[in-house]
Amino acid sequence: MPDSPQVLVLGGGLAGCECAFQLAQAGLRVRLHEMKPHKRTAAQTSDGLCELVCSNSLRSDNPLNAIGLLHEELRRLGSLVLHTADDNRVPAGDALAVDRDLFGAAMEARIASHPNIELVRGEVQQLPLDFPGPIVVATGPLTSDALAADIVRVAGVERLSFYDAISPIVSGESIDMSVAFLASRWGKGDTADYVNCPMDKAQYTAFVQAIVDADKLPLEDFEKGVHFFPGCLPIEVIAASGPKSLRFGPMKPTGLDDPRTGRWAYAIVQLRTENRHKTAYNLVGFQTRMRQGEQRRVLSMIPGLEHAEFLRYGSVHRNTFLDSPRLLDTAMRLKSLPQLRFAGQVSGVEGYVESTASGLWVGQALAAELRGQPLTPPPPTTALGALLQHVTDATAPRFQPSNVHFGLFEPLPAAAEPGKRRPGKPERKAAMTARARQELSTWAVLQGLPVAEAPAPAPDAEATEPAPESADPTCG
Ligand SMILES: Cc1cc2nc3c(=O)[nH]c(=O)nc-3n(C[C@H](O)[C@H](O)[C@H](O)COP(=O)(O)OP(=O)(O)OC[C@H]3O[C@@H](n4cnc5c(N)ncnc54)[C@H](O)[C@@H]3O)c2cc1C
Repeated sequence: MPDSPQVLVLGGGLAGCECAFQLAQAGLRVRLHEMKPHKRTAAQTSDGLCELVCSNSLRSDNPLNAIGLLHEELRRLGSLVLHTADDNRVPAGDALAVDRDLFGAAMEARIASHPNIELVRGEVQQLPLDFPGPIVVATGPLTSDALAADIVRVAGVERLSFYDAISPIVSGESIDMSVAFLASRWGKGDTADYVNCPMDKAQYTAFVQAIVDADKLPLEDFEKGVHFFPGCLPIEVIAASGPKSLRFGPMKPTGLDDPRTGRWAYAIVQLRTENRHKTAYNLVGFQTRMRQGEQRRVLSMIPGLEHAEFLRYGSVHRNTFLDSPRLLDTAMRLKSLPQLRFAGQVSGVEGYVESTASGLWVGQALAAELRGQPLTPPPPTTALGALLQHVTDATAPRFQPSNVHFGLFEPLPAAAEPGKRRPGKPERKAAMTARARQELSTWAVLQGLPVAEAPAPAPDAEATEPAPESADPTCG
């Protein structure tokens, strides 16, 4: 590339390559830094760009699932990763799975041959703040130690995490409120923010034993010797430390009067609302490394959660990410140093496709800003908008990265006519998808962005329940 670069992108993974491509397609000269082959993270085994470090699946491709809808939105907005994945897909039922070697090679060929992209190999150990233009940091969940230390220097020591401790989230409507009850501990705060699932002694004892016996994900080599913060211990670690430990920890019943008995239960599982619409609730303190099938089995022993719909499974794994709602604006700029932007997993999204989406948004938003026509973010009725809102919503009390799921979306308006049958789950998902398709088109046209037509719904798609997402969409 003859001329000097206008934008630096750090990290040649899914987010960095998507971002560099979007910028380059907009006519900007980009220098993309990737530390491989000089250095690899502990999870990488190849020297190429865009390595899928674990599963070869980009999860459900059905637009009646939130992740499938995100696929569709990315295709419509011109994502290189999605189109390359489509070109290299392997049969996997409802899922978009790829031949990882062909996918990585095709991505590298497109990036390395792009006339506006200069690919530079080598670890970036310090943020190159003397560069005169914008810098996008997309160095992923295993950002190298030296660069992570420099990010801490600019973002603040409390604002970069190295592990996530994620509790499962269930949909509000799937909680059996004839068993669970609303109450906040000692009556403090808004009672309606907490749902409580009471257990008697026999139920508690069986539940603790089931947690101890459940199949868990093994620690990766690079995760061994991890010291968890006391407030982030996985429930199985607490359960294994003694039969009463959970009852004195996340399951303590004190201060929670059951309105039906006027008494405290033997133990309580508390769920806290995830959004102001109260459509999704997380199980407070239930971060876990139980396998996803085991989470479904064991957690459905909780009274009131027998038929819970899991919007997100719990996990605990190595992950470098910012406290983005406190630090980033909606263009993913660091508020205190707007020259820096963050994309991908380090910005607090979770998963291959979500990281790609974040890279696409940062690339398109930055290109538009440099043209003097800044974008407003897509609305939270779309998958992309819902994901971005999760990452940048400064009103959220405690931030944890998330995959995309319908619980992040603006809910549908409540059924207007009392007494009318509430639409079932498949109909609501179809309505969410139809609304998202329409609103993405409207938004893109208003922003002056090219957007492909939404595909026509498949016959009967409106009435059928999509296959649930594969049991293990991520390694975690
Ligand atoms: C062990 C593990 C397993 C996972 N499994 C899955 C899964 O199965 N499914 C899923 O959806 N998600 C999975 N994830 C999450 C996954 O990493 C992200 O979803 C996705 O790869 C993140 O994309 P990214 O572009 O943000 O980061 P990455 O894809 O990791 O890309 C970051 C790039 O930056 C480079 N880099 C790092 N530091 C520097 C530096 N200082 N200088 C220059 N380059 C640097 C890295 O070499 C890398 O190529 C997993 C994560 C881990 C850690």
